Amino acid sequence: MPAKKPVVTKKPAAKTAAKKVVAIKKGSTKDDSGLPLSVVIRRRIEAQKARFHANDNISEFIKPGELEGLVDEVAEKMQAVLESLVIDTKNDHNTQNTSRRVAKMYVQEVFNGRYVEQPTLTKFPNVSRLNELMIIGPITVRSACSHHLCPIMGRIWIGVLPSKDSALIGLSKYSRLTEWVMCRPQIQEEAVVELADMLEKKIKPIGVAVVMDADHFCMQWRGVKDRDSKMINSVMRGAFLKDSNLRREFLALIDRK
Ligand SMILES: [Zn+2]
Repeated sequence: MPAKKPVVTKKPAAKTAAKKVVAIKKGSTKDDSGLPLSVVIRRRIEAQKARFHANDNISEFIKPGELEGLVDEVAEKMQAVLESLVIDTKNDHNTQNTSRRVAKMYVQEVFNGRYVEQPTLTKFPNVSRLNELMIIGPITVRSACSHHLCPIMGRIWIGVLPSKDSALIGLSKYSRLTEWVMCRPQIQEEAVVELADMLEKKIKPIGVAVVMDADHFCMQWRGVKDRDSKMINSVMRGAFLKDSNLRREFLALIDRK
């Protein structure tokens, strides 16, 4: 039998006999046995049988201080990509720190929604028993496609029909939640569904609607190089699905110009 690989789980896993707790020193990209940080994190996720697709959040598997180490690891590998692209990063002053800049941009900015916890959403009871259509938007969307890691820039509108028992969230929280979902490599169709699911779970409304309209740079920068192509899609849930008048009202009120 091959030697047991170190397994790290959040909760002690009873069945793992040779359990070894892996501590990674702050700022290090490897654990004591030389495993890269990404492998250590991946094993924690696999031990819990969790999914870690590009648009999944894996923050619960990352310990404090490890994100810095992850930036270092990505920078090392990004440097290898630049070298494979035959770019003289030693003498080209423009690309000397590109690998680190890209690593920081991925981990700390544009894909940050994978690595940080969901923003806290203060909920208010629906004291005035609002049951009128609420529309929030346009909310700016900055994301990237999972296929090419090319930017997706667009806008989102959210429609909510609260019930008298709904928990309402502050207006700014819709933007925070949207940003958290979008700061990951995404597929537009999946992103809007994910956002609608989250809003349904949090607010428990009678209906929720999400419309997204975006430019996909993988259509503009590469591929067909079609500068004007956009993608628009929507998710309608509950009352928005059943009541065509409500749906029409929502779509008429959002100004997509
Ligand atoms: Zn793409």
